[in-house]
Amino acid sequence: MIRVDILVVGAGFAGAVMAERLAAVGLRVLVIDRRSHVAGNAYDETDSHGVLVHRYGPHIFHTNSERVFRYLSRFTSWRPYEHRVRAYVRGRLVPFPINLDTLNALYGKSWGEAEARAFLERVRVRRGHPRTSEDVVLGAVGPELCDLFYRNYTRKQWGRDLRELKASVAARIPVRLNRDDRYFEDRFQAMPREGYTAIFHRMLNRDGVEVALETDYREALGTVDYRHLVYTGPIDEFFGCCYGPLPYRSLRFEHLHYAGVERVQPVATINYPNDCEYTRVTEFKHLTGQKHSGTSLVREYPQAEGEPYYPVPSDDAMEQARRYEKLARQRKDVTFVGRLAEYRYYNMDQVVAAALKSAEKVKALLGVDG
Ligand code: FAD
Ligand code: UDP
Repeated sequence: MIRVDILVVGAGFAGAVMAERLAAVGLRVLVIDRRSHVAGNAYDETDSHGVLVHRYGPHIFHTNSERVFRYLSRFTSWRPYEHRVRAYVRGRLVPFPINLDTLNALYGKSWGEAEARAFLERVRVRRGHPRTSEDVVLGAVGPELCDLFYRNYTRKQWGRDLRELKASVAARIPVRLNRDDRYFEDRFQAMPREGYTAIFHRMLNRDGVEVALETDYREALGTVDYRHLVYTGPIDEFFGCCYGPLPYRSLRFEHLHYAGVERVQPVATINYPNDCEYTRVTEFKHLTGQKHSGTSLVREYPQAEGEPYYPVPSDDAMEQARRYEKLARQRKDVTFVGRLAEYRYYNMDQVVAAALKSAEKVKALLGVDG
């Protein structure tokens, strides 16, 4: 029997932050993950051509939280990076999120802000307080731009229509009347200088933390004696899917390499709302700034089956998740934290913030100072 204070299931951001914070106050922590590596979905690695790539799709760090940024800065220095995306529509690449240049390119105009505003006023369809993602998009840009940029991309990504998804999904994407073509507007936007995996190694290679990879929670159960469990895997799986399996959206990643070509895309990511089976293609060197004679990209093909990557933000799925959440609240011996354990469409910074908060609660629960 291995004796620890804390057993952490999952070595992604949620698990690693919990482990680091709890070990920092003298608790003994064992982190297990069923994968063969740490870092969860943020895992990056050098591919067989020598290019730094993100195995589970492109991860761009952005946050408005100074607390989160400062905390992560203990484990990495940063490369300033602002993400830019183009959408391939009507046979050409235009800025996405929709901005003044997108409208001018599509409609062959040279509008200023006032004219673009007047145009959107004419085409938008307001339906009171937006409840679904369709309400959000129609209310912002009207049916034509909705169909061009959002409806089919969303159907590909989620296997559902915009009207079946909560307003918060489409609300992630702004619509701008200026020429700002950045994907995010957060105060802090940067990439970890040596990649994400290096952050995890620095967090977890410390006194008080042991890591066991290729170890499933179920296998570990009989062999580890712990005072408190931190669980960051899928919440339905923890409870034996007693209310039925929750829906997740998965992806198939197709990694590509072009030898002898420095760059193939004008920006890091190109979205394909209407063409192709994949939703987007990302070229990693834009994100990492790596110098290399070749270039590596990834295409994302959404699918229902496979590794759970996205909780589905629809009313029915959220309702089902709330039933599991109720069970979770009764388990004072377990802390559920992270994208899969809380069934929330969290970005990395939100996971870090949630874990920092949960670590404080666990310390209080166990009566540990610090
Ligand atoms: P995960 O990273 O999923 O870690 C959970 C870990 O638990 C996994 O390693 C899993 O193997 C392990 N586990 C689960 N069950 C068990 C079990 N029974 N036993 C043992 N181990 C188990 N966020 C951003 O901020 N910016 C982005 O640009 C961005 N891009 C993304 C792109 C894609 C394609 C995806 C899928 C996500 C993206 N995210 C992005 C979100 C980001 O990946 C998550 O917010 C974050 O990684 C979640 O961390 P986590 O620790 O909650 O979960
Ligand atoms: N979206 C869209 N068209 C796009 C990009 C995004 O319709 O070109 C919608 C889609 O529903 C997507 C959501 O906006 O799931 C959020 O997009 P984001 O890029 O934030 O998704 P993520 O990076 O989390 O996959």
